[in-house]
Amino acid sequence: MVSVKEKELQITEQRRLRDNLFDISSRIMGKEGAKFLFKVYDLARFDIFGKPKGAIGSIDVTNRCNLRCRHCYFYAHDYESEPELTDDEWIEKFEGLKKEGFPFYQCSWIGGEPLLRKSLIERGMRYFKSNLVTTNGTIELPFWPDVNFYISIDGPREMHDSMRGKGTYDKIVKNVNRPNLKILLSMVITRENYRGVETFVDEWRERGGVRGVLFQFYTPVKGLENDNLWPGWELRDRVIDDLIRLKGIHGDFIFLPNEVFEMMRSDRCQAITRDCLFSQVSFCFDPQGREKRPCMMGPMADCTRCGCVLPFHLKALEDKRLVLRELFMSLRKAFGRPVLH
Ligand code: SF4
Ligand code: SF4
Repeated sequence: MVSVKEKELQITEQRRLRDNLFDISSRIMGKEGAKFLFKVYDLARFDIFGKPKGAIGSIDVTNRCNLRCRHCYFYAHDYESEPELTDDEWIEKFEGLKKEGFPFYQCSWIGGEPLLRKSLIERGMRYFKSNLVTTNGTIELPFWPDVNFYISIDGPREMHDSMRGKGTYDKIVKNVNRPNLKILLSMVITRENYRGVETFVDEWRERGGVRGVLFQFYTPVKGLENDNLWPGWELRDRVIDDLIRLKGIHGDFIFLPNEVFEMMRSDRCQAITRDCLFSQVSFCFDPQGREKRPCMMGPMADCTRCGCVLPFHLKALEDKRLVLRELFMSLRKAFGRPVLH
């Protein structure tokens, strides 16, 4: 039987070999090329051995936010009175996880508003191979060229501001004007804003500055008086028809493949969320560093009406053709141009 000490040594050695291999590949192929190679390796490994527990997940870095949006699930939890972990306490936690062989693959830094704790993210993201920051876009984006920024936006100006506060849309327009950063917009579709989807896509396609748009649907959360935002199944299915039509026009600017939208339809979605892959493979920590179950939305989210894209995207990735498509997209991102059609 392998002792804890021996296991730690094995993990450290694997990590050292991997880092060396990454350095050598970077010198031969450039940093982006090496990243692509490692993505192929990781996806192949996940496919063969199954997704390791903790491969992807999220950290609520703070319980504070500079906004107070009407649809925020965060405030269904009583976090505000409890002190959040300090930067040093988080680093201590990551070091502890490292010893346990935690995979440190992909982390979404969320909140609250994560950019209120830039120094923590800057230190913490060095532990992960891939980092996403989901922000409300009202704070200037730091120059983190390797990070994927997801800016939460609720449709065209008027709809967005009615949900998040006057003037917030214009702040986003100003802050995303950063050509050297990887920025995607993320819109949660509700009964109130679904009519704005097409205008929203057209406006941002024309305005430029972002790599694309990710759509999700509103997930009801018990304890929040927001059930009027839930679109209902019939409307949700109609919006999915629209998204597929818009994807026909805008292609990869609408970030998800059609297979994922199809899985979100009312006759298919519950079989997927009942057995949610995301909750099985992900890690989610709250601002106090405690594990949050079953996912980042916490125990009060209504899984039967989940509109989060993650369970569907993970399910879709069980299809090998989609894994190839994801790799193709990474290749395009790595080398900045389409290589196949
Ligand atoms: S910006 Fe995000 S965390 Fe802040 S109130 Fe809005 S939804 Fe909640
Ligand atoms: S709310 Fe959605 S993502 Fe979270 S556990 Fe339920 S089904 Fe999965």
